[in-house]
Amino acid sequence: MLNAGVFHHVQDAHLFENKYLFYRFTSDEDHGTVARKPDDSAVSWADFVAPVAPAEAQTITLQPAIPERDPDLATFAQVDLEAFGISPLDEYNARLLDRVHPKGWVDPKPKSTYNLVVIGAGAGGLVSAAGAAGVGARVALIESHLLGGDCLNVGCVPSKALLRCAKAAAVVRNASAFGVNIDGNVSVDFGFVMERMRRLRASIAPIDSARRFSEQLGVDVFIGKGTFTAKNKIEVNGKTLTFAKAVIATGGTAAIPNIPGLQEAPYLTNATIFNLTELPSRLGVIGAGPIGLELAQAFQRFGSQVTVFSRSDKILPKEDPDAAKIIEKSLRQDGVTFAFHANYKRVESRNGNPPVTIVLEDGSGERSIEFDALLIATGRKPAVRGLGLESASVSYDERMGVCIRSGRCGEQVPVYAHRGFYGTPGHPQRAILWS
Ligand SMILES: Cc1cc2nc3c(=O)[nH]c(=O)nc-3n(C[C@H](O)[C@H](O)[C@H](O)COP(=O)(O)OP(=O)(O)OC[C@H]3O[C@@H](n4cnc5c(N)ncnc54)[C@H](O)[C@@H]3O)c2cc1C
Repeated sequence: MLNAGVFHHVQDAHLFENKYLFYRFTSDEDHGTVARKPDDSAVSWADFVAPVAPAEAQTITLQPAIPERDPDLATFAQVDLEAFGISPLDEYNARLLDRVHPKGWVDPKPKSTYNLVVIGAGAGGLVSAAGAAGVGARVALIESHLLGGDCLNVGCVPSKALLRCAKAAAVVRNASAFGVNIDGNVSVDFGFVMERMRRLRASIAPIDSARRFSEQLGVDVFIGKGTFTAKNKIEVNGKTLTFAKAVIATGGTAAIPNIPGLQEAPYLTNATIFNLTELPSRLGVIGAGPIGLELAQAFQRFGSQVTVFSRSDKILPKEDPDAAKIIEKSLRQDGVTFAFHANYKRVESRNGNPPVTIVLEDGSGERSIEFDALLIATGRKPAVRGLGLESASVSYDERMGVCIRSGRCGEQVPVYAHRGFYGTPGHPQRAILWS
């Protein structure tokens, strides 16, 4: 029956073995699929975006740009791309989107009930869905934006790709310490660095892709915003999924501090900095946590003059102070400058365009510092709004995230707490399982 395709192993092609393995009937297999063109090939984002103009024809800007829509391609909605926030739409980013948000994805017909529904397909959600499907559970995975979440798209993967290039630059610059003399200037081709990052990100995207989860792992993949409508129901794209257990793995977004003028200024966050195609000569970084510092180091080594601002007297306030000192020393050796005890007065820009000026008061009195780009890296805000958590009787706090441990949620003791913990302000990206 396995060879005849009546059923198959839930994880991969296995010969039938008399072991405790999990098989699924092929007739049950509608897990969502890519849209197809008349010639049966998969629809690709590359079909919908205008070819990227040659570099010399592009307007030089430090702000991430959304490419112009090709007017000949009728069904492409510009708003889609704006929502994705991934640019430039070159072949690598088109390939990435084909994996993590396929154009025209066809959701499966919902099963009568799911053992597990996972909301959010970042690192936490993908692992939960794959693990449960691998032991035979009927699983639905809902993602409103990009499968892979922050880590693949705008977090660990692109940042580590940049750090690798930054390390190469530093090794070459410091080579004389090892008796290796390099004549002439060392310069970094930022366009190449960013293109390399986009290529690497696209090349590993298949692991997190909608097609892998639906076709190989047997997970029902829904691309749309999930909203709880009852304790055991969630709605996505107008369909209602009924479940026994659910994982909330909606992660978070960059928290933006309340500094006058900042909202009107063209600031970057982790969601947009990886779209840059030109190196800012002067980069301000508000926030001295791990995200701000790793990007500060990378950009300094690429050739930006980077200044890191911290409200306190140190960097990495949650880490071991001795370790933080070592990192600070290393960043200073790279040329990063620091402004501690920063009391931000306001941020100024030219009608929302760079340069951006930070006006602050610190140990040196009131002063203004001008930048070509400003990165905000002051922590994460959990994505709990609009999830319908009230309908599922799940308590939450907009700053701390989903609350599942009694005694730490004020008056509200969560009824459905099963396992997990209350997210801490710096680390709200935690998957919560309840039943
Ligand atoms: C610059 C940077 C570098 C980092 N480097 C590292 C590193 O080196 N190592 C490391 O371990 N961690 C790193 N991190 C942290 C890591 O990215 C996060 O810990 C991880 O992404 C959290 O995964 P998550 O699944 O909890 O949430 P996310 O990745 O945020 O995924 C949540 C998903 O839920 C979706 N979603 C939200 N609401 C809904 C809804 N209503 N319906 C459907 N879907 C929804 C979102 O679109 C998103 O895709 C880094 C982060 C950043 C920003």
